[in-house]
Amino acid sequence: MTSHRDDASMDAVGVSADDDITWQGDVRAGVRQVRDLDSLPLSPAERSAAQAAATRHKVRIPKAYLDLIDWTDPADPIRAQVIPSPEELTEQEGELDDPIADHAFSPVPRLTHRHADRVLLFPTYQCAVYCRFCFRKESLTSIGRGFSREALEPAFAYIAAHPEIREVILTGGDPLSLPDKALAEIRARIEAVSHVRLLRLHTRVPVALPSRVTSGLVRSLQGRLMVTVVTHFNHAREITDAAEQACSALRQGGFVLLNQSVLLKGVNDTVEVLEELCRELMYRLGVKPYYLHHGDLARGMAHRRTTIHQGQALVSALRARLSGICNPVYVLDLPDGGGKVPLGPCYVEAQDGETWRIRGQDGELRTYTELVGDP
Ligand SMILES: *Cc1c(COP(=O)(O)O)cnc(C)c1O
Ligand code: SF4
Repeated sequence: MTSHRDDASMDAVGVSADDDITWQGDVRAGVRQVRDLDSLPLSPAERSAAQAAATRHKVRIPKAYLDLIDWTDPADPIRAQVIPSPEELTEQEGELDDPIADHAFSPVPRLTHRHADRVLLFPTYQCAVYCRFCFRKESLTSIGRGFSREALEPAFAYIAAHPEIREVILTGGDPLSLPDKALAEIRARIEAVSHVRLLRLHTRVPVALPSRVTSGLVRSLQGRLMVTVVTHFNHAREITDAAEQACSALRQGGFVLLNQSVLLKGVNDTVEVLEELCRELMYRLGVKPYYLHHGDLARGMAHRRTTIHQGQALVSALRARLSGICNPVYVLDLPDGGGKVPLGPCYVEAQDGETWRIRGQDGELRTYTELVGDP
């Protein structure tokens, strides 16, 4: 059902240009609904488990992403991100429908305002790919709706009425799953609000459906505002020639590119995998690693969460191996709207008056004495 409606909205882009045909083919040849799982090389047991898990969270995998899976490896990190697993059916006490309290801070539909200067705007609750670990999966299921002009009017009015808002962050859902025309309209509406300075898009499209990043898409986002595109690569294997072309088009379009990753057990929880990911993001794609998110309390995801201690050890090792610009900030998005807080690494071990005990990057403890002028 849902997938038919989604296809209609994707088709709304029109097939005028060759590059539109390419990405639409990528969508059609991928997994679009549960029964498409039948065509994948899963064992009968895996298939029925996947079908059961898919009832809790939608499945969708564009062909470009599906092709990255190494089917000979049951623990393949690409597969782990998109193929439903029976473990998703095991929920733990304390897991949450809304792990980062989007709804509690939502003054009008489709908008979350937790920090004075920036808002999240949800133009769609649909995505080009559905990630098993998604922290918004309950919203994607319960709200599920795509873009409509009327649905966003209260959010636009709210933004216009709050002069403290400087950044509008399009998230969802995946804003880049929208047609160019819808993106251009949304951009124009936000641009018309003079106190808004920056437009941000949080998207997995450059990872999972890179062919969607067409020249038309780039043009639809160009205007008065500084635009930042925050991608979501979790593994270096996702950094393909097609992803490189997509990021190059976005950079040449004049957008600032950042990446956020989620720390996922069995996907990227080793220093080697994170090091290669962050290095290739920066050096090959020109995408600055921004955040590494500690796995949040999304339901049925205990099998993908690491401990905070493990995460801290990883980022501490990363810090020693990679240049400053290649390092992401390791954050926990606190439940109940506490926001994102950095979890480390922390090098300060003790303080006594002006004297600090700080561990150097070489692991040696040093003493640093503060010298400041009279107040
Ligand atoms: C993550 C998030 C933001 C953006 O935070 P930055 O630290 O600026 O990237 C804004 N609002 C909400 C509600 C968020 O969850
Ligand atoms: S693309 Fe983002 S919002 Fe969509 S399922 Fe994946 S993590 Fe969730």
